[in-house]
Order: sequence, then structure tokens, then C-alpha cells
Amino acid sequence: MAAPAAPLIAFRDVRRVYGTGEAEVRALDGVSLSIARGEFVAIMGPSGSGKSTAMNIIGCLDRPSSGDYLFAGTPVQGLSNDQRALLRRHALGFVFQGFNLLARTSALENVELPLIYKGLPRDERKARARAALAKVGLQGREDHDPSQLSGGQQQRVAIARALAGDPTVILADEPTGNLDSHRSHEIMHLLQRLNREEGITIVMVTHEEDIAAYAGRLLVFVDGHLARDVPQEPRG
Ligand code: ADP
Repeated sequence: MAAPAAPLIAFRDVRRVYGTGEAEVRALDGVSLSIARGEFVAIMGPSGSGKSTAMNIIGCLDRPSSGDYLFAGTPVQGLSNDQRALLRRHALGFVFQGFNLLARTSALENVELPLIYKGLPRDERKARARAALAKVGLQGREDHDPSQLSGGQQQRVAIARALAGDPTVILADEPTGNLDSHRSHEIMHLLQRLNREEGITIVMVTHEEDIAAYAGRLLVFVDGHLARDVPQEPRG
């Protein structure tokens, strides 16, 4: 019998300490958790509770001071900088509160950009970028630049940019933080669809309960600890 698949994301007693002595801050103070492929997880918690630190570690942008972070069973701290960059490029997609699109650059070119770093030929890049924009409902807007799009549409471009790389995981940091309520719910329905139909694992930080409600599991951080880890029936 085959061994059960390793969790996609696992923290084993992860600590992340900033500063020393009097100035020491334990941003994460012994966090253990695991997230399976295909989950949609929301992370909540007060400001300063360690949410961003956890996301940065999951996103391979930071490393634990001690403890292990395993991605699909591989200890990330054992990887070289180049290997971590490859993992980021090939398995992870990032979506931010502020969209982070290039100004005066078309939606298509924004989505294509990460594919240039992947070394894909031009025609394949264009085709993938068009397909990703279609998936988020932006067919016909390929030539618009961010200033010609609403906030919700800009966030869709950012989601298409993440999707174009064919990620295993999308890491979304306050993805609706800059959007009105109507657009926020549209974006959450889109993320939920990508999770359910494409099987993309989603880890999302939010401070809004009605946004966290779209996830199938809620993690709550308090003072660098995982205070709650509860499954929930996602709102649809
Ligand atoms: P959250 O995202 O929940 O607001 P963070 O992970 O950003 O929390 O921060 C957790 C704690 O770590 C806070 O006390 C914060 O001030 C501290 N911290 C975060 N990043 C740094 C840093 N680069 N240098 C020093 N302290 C930091």
C-alpha cells in the first residue's frame, strides 16, 4: 500500500524571532499545522499576531528561526536560494491587497510577465495569459491597462497573473481589502470556484469575518500562536 501523501504545507513547531534581548519579538512562537492539497484556508487574528510572518514563510520569502516548514514533504530550509525561487515560481501564486499590477501596462502583459521568467516562448505566453484572463471573466479586456479597469477587475488581472503560472497554491493577502462589499464577494466567489474546479489550494489572510466565511477552514493566530483551527461550512 502506498504511503499517504504528505500534507502540501506543514509547519512543525515553527518559531520566527526578530531582534534579541529586550527587543526580542516572537512573531511565531511554536506553530504546528498542516494544510492538505485542495483546501481553502482563511487566516485571521489581531494585528501583530503573526499572520504575515506565517504567509511569508509559506511563500518562501522568509525562513523560520527554528522548526520546520515542509512543502509537499520537502523541508524548505534544506533548499538553496535558487531552489526556493523555483518553488515559488512553479508552485505558488501570490495575490495582494493592492493588486501590484504594473501601471501603463496592458492586462495581457501584466499576466504574461511571470511567464517570461519561466522562459516560455512568446506564443505560448500569450495563449496562456489569454486563457487565464478568460478564466477570471476578463475576455475582451486584454488591452486595457490598470487605470482603465475597476478595482475588482484589477484584482481579477492579479488573480489571472497568479493562475497563468499554473500554481498548486494561491497565497492571498487581504485580497478584498481595497474593494467595496459587492466586488469583494465577486472576488471571493472567483477564488472559491478556482479552489473547487481547478483544485488550487488557497491560503488567505483576511480581517473580515464575512470574507473568511468562504473558506472551508479557519485558522486564528493570537500572539504568535495558533489559537484556533476549525473546519467550517463555507458560504457559497
Ligand atoms: P500580522 O500580520 O498578524 O499583523 P506580523 O506577522 O506582521 O503580524 O507580525 C508579528 C510580530 O512580529 C509583530 O509584533 C511585528 O511587529 C513583528 N515583526 C514583523 N516583522 C518584523 C520585522 N521585520 N522586524 C521586527 N519585528 C517584526
